Amino acid sequence: MSEITNLASKIEKQLPAELVEFMQAGGLVAANQGQSLYLVGGVVRDLLLKRTNLDLDLVVEGDAINLAQRLADIVQAKLVTHPRFNTAKLRWDKWSVDLASARSETYDKPGALPKVTPGSLESDLFRRDFTVNAMAVKLDPNHYGELVDLYGGREDLEHKLVRILHNNSFIDDATRIWRGLRYEQRLDFQLEKDTLKLLKRNLSMLDTISGDRIRHELELILGEEFPEKALRRAQELKVLPKLHPALKGDDWLAEKFEQARQISSLGSPSIALYLVLLAYRLTGEKNEQLISRLNLPKALAQTLRGTSSLKAQLELLDSLGLTHSSVYRLLNGYSLPAVTANLLACDSLVACQRIQLFLDKLRHVRPLLTGKDLVRMGIAPGPRVKDLLRLLQDAKLDGRITTREGEEAMARSWVE
Ligand code: ATP
Ligand code: MG
Repeated sequence: MSEITNLASKIEKQLPAELVEFMQAGGLVAANQGQSLYLVGGVVRDLLLKRTNLDLDLVVEGDAINLAQRLADIVQAKLVTHPRFNTAKLRWDKWSVDLASARSETYDKPGALPKVTPGSLESDLFRRDFTVNAMAVKLDPNHYGELVDLYGGREDLEHKLVRILHNNSFIDDATRIWRGLRYEQRLDFQLEKDTLKLLKRNLSMLDTISGDRIRHELELILGEEFPEKALRRAQELKVLPKLHPALKGDDWLAEKFEQARQISSLGSPSIALYLVLLAYRLTGEKNEQLISRLNLPKALAQTLRGTSSLKAQLELLDSLGLTHSSVYRLLNGYSLPAVTANLLACDSLVACQRIQLFLDKLRHVRPLLTGKDLVRMGIAPGPRVKDLLRLLQDAKLDGRITTREGEEAMARSWVE
């Protein structure tokens, strides 16, 4: 028998007091109902690794929704329940906690969503992706803080290994292939030897996964601090070509991702920007294949298409003697990620400077006069008003007018 590890003091140190109190209260309420409550998954892994993670996942051997309702009353949380899955989400202040009933899953065929039946903690942990994500902590007051490690997660953490729980894991759910790369690269771990062998052997299972599910995993990767690491690894292990054979996780991509981070005002670039950079070197037809493989929502698909059409216009942006208004007309209408990706990827200095000018200044230029002003000055209402506003905007972009008086003089000339 291995000795019991207790994480109570790690919990105390690493999680905010509100969440600690919430978990203690939860453990007590559940125990009074004769049920056991556990902290599970990523947050347990991160407690042991001393990494910040405030996404609490709780599992109860019993009725999650009923327990969630009681806990929501205690902390005055907003509650959203999913009776079909017997899960609930609580939100209050700045906290969000997921609560689920312990369940076991079986897979009728590869890639399909699992059949879910109520189960024990043991089966709930066994359905998970990797040993390091399959640990739990008891919240029952009599055993508070005790680590439940049935599949060797602790040891794998110490050896920095990402290991599946059983040999069919990637066949049941090939999204775990992408998840494995993501954890390996984020945590600086290694895929364990047999896991790696099975991953390579089961690459074809990626074809069983729906576009929505693959897109979700790709978005999780693009939400990482350094997504290029997992994409490089995905190329090395021939996972990336399964997404599209022409995609590359190479030095160029790493360089562009790094530049994207440097210019991003929000701290980290949007997932859309990372995605269009990943797709940047695909030609039109291949771009369409990727859009359909990922079943991209309309807006994102348009951004990919826009990036590609703008790329085809870069040569124009390099030509001599372009006025500011023509630069504006060329770039206006493309989404921000499409323009930004072209800024990062273009290799003509002149074109780059023009895109930069557009982003910093031109795109914000508007005439001071409005359509209403024009009508008040005697222009007949109708589509012409819009055209004239555009002329005013062009004149302002090109510096031909700079003041309200200038705009008014121009408008008066149209009335006459
Ligand atoms: P992260 O730090 O990326 O959020 P996490 O471990 O919290 O890591 P989630 O995607 O939030 O990951 O999922 C929560 C838990 O659900 C995981 O720890 C894992 O145990 C389990 N899980 C998620 N996706 C799968 C999957 N495809 N197959 C098996 N288990 C999964
Ligand atoms: Mg999580």
